Amino acid sequence: MIIVMQPDAGDVEIAAVEAKIKAAGLGVHISRGTERTLIGAIGDERKLDPEMFDPMPGVERSLHILKPYKLVAREWHKASTVIDVAGAEIGGNEIQVIAGPCSVETVPQMNSAAAAVASAGARLMRGGAFKPRTSPYSFQGKGIDGLKMLKDSAAQFGLPIVTELMDVRMLDTFLEHDVDVIQIGTRNMQNFDLLKEVGAVDVPVVLKRGMSATISEWLMAAEYIAAGGNHKIILCERGIRTFETAYRNVLDVTAVPMLKRETHLPVIIDPSHAGGKAWLVPALACAGIAAGADGLLIEVHPCPQDAWCDADQALSPTEFKALMTKLGAVANALGRTTASPHHVAAQEAELA
Ligand code: PEP
Ligand code: MN
Repeated sequence: MIIVMQPDAGDVEIAAVEAKIKAAGLGVHISRGTERTLIGAIGDERKLDPEMFDPMPGVERSLHILKPYKLVAREWHKASTVIDVAGAEIGGNEIQVIAGPCSVETVPQMNSAAAAVASAGARLMRGGAFKPRTSPYSFQGKGIDGLKMLKDSAAQFGLPIVTELMDVRMLDTFLEHDVDVIQIGTRNMQNFDLLKEVGAVDVPVVLKRGMSATISEWLMAAEYIAAGGNHKIILCERGIRTFETAYRNVLDVTAVPMLKRETHLPVIIDPSHAGGKAWLVPALACAGIAAGADGLLIEVHPCPQDAWCDADQALSPTEFKALMTKLGAVANALGRTTASPHHVAAQEAELA
């Protein structure tokens, strides 16, 4: 950290800053210029905060030199992290698609959704059992029964499951039901107690970007999970709030190459919550993969117009299959692959 002193700061003020840095266990380097003095703190500056120095007499401002995140930074971990979810690798050369309905509704709905997800070649299934709804009067999800339905339907097709955890009190239930990937939704990206709890378990986490979170805030949220010991974190860009109202959110495609540079963690795109309209999903999905994303989270419903939640953005099984074919071509153009026809054929043989 560097502390910039005001032009008229005297020896007493400089000495006070020096004493504070030393008290925190760091070394000090003082550089006296012609107009002002700069004080450098030497050592692990993450122990320091500008708030410690900015209010002190004679201080103009203080600034961090290093990034505030460490465990998730590519600077400290050059190789890309690849997360194995029951055989499906996220972050490797193969693009992974997680698909399924916004919410778990009924057994027939989940069984048809699972069949559609598997036959199109996606290797993981999503479905919300606990739903974060804007209105308390909207359908809130099937709860624990929903977890069971998701697990059972997905298991018939050998698909690992991804589902949202909203409340720390449900974490043990998620573990008991063998949830393969825990999703932290946009509204909970900075629920630090929740992040600490999922940081303490050995289950991969999809961390969605807060709807108004900066890249740095998002990576600090990931750092919370990593700091607890869980390094299996998948970042999911799901659209951010801007001045634009023509679509649900704005897919921040720029975030993909930026994250790939800043962090070693896998990055996926959720084109469904970004666009909010089914017809926008294919274009956004292709854009995400073209920008370098490692996978997609897509809402698919056996009968979109009957969906209990996010009906307008769900793809039908036919639309999803067509998109998967297109994504294969986009992935190949970039030197990447999608689930190999091999895998799909093996899955089909298993079912026959
Ligand atoms: C979801 O995936 O169903 C969801 C609620 O997403 P988000 O947290 O991005 O709004
Ligand atoms: Mn949804």
